Amino acid sequence: MKARKLLMIPGPIEFEPEVLKAMSTPTTSHVAPDFTESFGHALDMMRDVWLDPSGQPFIIAGSGTLAMDMAASNLVEQGDAVLVISTGYFGERYAELLKRYTNQVDILKAEQGGIVPEDQIESQLKKKNYKLLTFTHVDTSTAVMNDPRPIAELGKKYNVLTILDGVCSVAGEEIRQEEWGIDVAFTASQKAIGVPPGLALMVASTKAIDAWKSRKTPVSNYYADWGNWLPIMQAYANRKPAYFGTPAVNLVQALEASLQIILKEGMEKRFKRHQKTGKAFRSAMKAAGLEMIPVEEKVAANTLSAPFYPKGIVGKDFLKKISDEGIILAGGLLANIKSNYFRVGHMGAVNRNDLLATVGAIETTLRNAGHQINPGICLKAAQEILDK
Ligand code: PMP
Repeated sequence: MKARKLLMIPGPIEFEPEVLKAMSTPTTSHVAPDFTESFGHALDMMRDVWLDPSGQPFIIAGSGTLAMDMAASNLVEQGDAVLVISTGYFGERYAELLKRYTNQVDILKAEQGGIVPEDQIESQLKKKNYKLLTFTHVDTSTAVMNDPRPIAELGKKYNVLTILDGVCSVAGEEIRQEEWGIDVAFTASQKAIGVPPGLALMVASTKAIDAWKSRKTPVSNYYADWGNWLPIMQAYANRKPAYFGTPAVNLVQALEASLQIILKEGMEKRFKRHQKTGKAFRSAMKAAGLEMIPVEEKVAANTLSAPFYPKGIVGKDFLKKISDEGIILAGGLLANIKSNYFRVGHMGAVNRNDLLATVGAIETTLRNAGHQINPGICLKAAQEILDK
């Protein structure tokens, strides 16, 4: 019997064997011709995945929080007004982070499970001359998804730079960075982009780069300064080696492998596959009578789900039993309701069998804990959507 468990948390996720193989090749020099080619190729492919043909991609060693920090530190100067639109834990983190760079941080918080209504964002934008706004495409603490389009539209209307935290969405949820006019969209390697943790990835618009160029003060974060990294990215894009900080060589090769797999599937197909997977999982949970944090289907993410435990189920025991069934799930993250819900990642390489195995394990564990549901009801609900 296989001992390996299925990792169904919202990142790190299950990775494709080709990606892991690329990780395990002998580490080459960061200025070797084959590595220069891989780095340049990965940069080219990022534009296709972000659907931003004229954007400037960055591949930097670090986690998603570094990507948040990089966007903030390069675009914000002391005294600039910035607006954070928060749908959970990661929105609040962004507000805290931005306070390191300016004393003018405003935050609009959504009600739990919902989004901040567009008219509320617009009336806030009318109040001040904001330099930049941030929003979380999918907040991993709530599984709530914002539609980036109306927010990007407001950004254009009020001439505010728009920063999309896509750590839990890029390469899973639909994003058309150039068409929608988003200035910076970033992610981390361990999520839907399908590479083990350790890379911060972002694409910046010409407008964002121009805003950085017209700063009056130096970027106070040395490692994150685009001034250090832009020449490196431009050199690798031209298949020339360059050095500022040693790149994570094996991770970059794994990124090249993963981006190739993603583009082979095709972005349109990939968006639809995630939509179907998300819908199938939510339908399975609904069949079991479980409520979800997102208050309506319209704001529910497709890369992960966040169901509440039904009455009588103790989270810690439930997650342990599921793990005994061979599936690893994540607990809650929002401080005030942390022990009331769990989180299931279903992004990237996740396939039909992974999803059904997960739904089956949840169903069995709920039944064994005394939750009254008919055997097979959740699996049937998921299958009906997957088979469509
Ligand atoms: N933003 C979001 C939406 C995330 O889900 C995460 C990680 N779960 C982060 C930012 C931070 O990324 P990291 O943990 O890689 O620093």
